[in-house]
Amino acid sequence: MNGANGYRTLKEDPERPIQRDYERGHEDPISVLTGLCREMYRLGWVTGTGGGISLRQGRFVYMAPSGVQKERIRPDDVFVLDSESGEVLCRPEHAPTLRVSQCCPLFFNAFRLRDAGACIHTHSPVAVMATMLPATELESEFRITHLEMIKGLPGYGYHDTLVIPLIDNTAQEEELAGAMAEAMKRYARSPAVLVRRHGLYAWGRDYTEAKTVTECLDYLFDIAVRMHSAGLDYTKAPQNCLQCSAADR
Ligand SMILES: [Zn+2]
Repeated sequence: MNGANGYRTLKEDPERPIQRDYERGHEDPISVLTGLCREMYRLGWVTGTGGGISLRQGRFVYMAPSGVQKERIRPDDVFVLDSESGEVLCRPEHAPTLRVSQCCPLFFNAFRLRDAGACIHTHSPVAVMATMLPATELESEFRITHLEMIKGLPGYGYHDTLVIPLIDNTAQEEELAGAMAEAMKRYARSPAVLVRRHGLYAWGRDYTEAKTVTECLDYLFDIAVRMHSAGLDYTKAPQNCLQCSAADR
């Protein structure tokens, strides 16, 4: 059965997930996904086939294949999965060897535990550097405070300390799923999880929020690295902040 973008469904699915959502007036999730992959590649977040993004729209989850160059993903390379069961509903028929992204169980953590509409995974160099700074090297969290861009994260203000849980890397991407889920439960306010010497998983209620969250975090990681290089402490309030108690400084 032909769907939008020259797709074929795995089964004779009368609901035709790709066409149906598009026809309902939503943005075409597959165009959004391939476009964001190109933008994320340009930012250096998903080079060397690493990293990725997944979108959820109603019953359907859209995900790139594993091990492909993210800036060259075509609409008919994208997998469609059932958001409840995780079952693959549509797969790229032109390339039977393609497998769904290894990030799949990690993206599903964001959909199931946070009701996210999108989840982004980056291998951004500054995110990786942020997991190796002295303040985080032996810790299970990354902390930063008193920076304007913290306000870009839902529910956070300038004076707040943003705390992102940090989990240890594993040999295979899928093996991170359990530790990520545990960290998400322990840090209920956090919109992201860092993976040591690996990268970042961040999510939002839709792709625009997930993109904003990821951009703000990437900026904050970059500032943390620069502040550390300059001998400044990004985990503490500045001495001259009158709104913060002496204990915070
Ligand atoms: Zn990764």
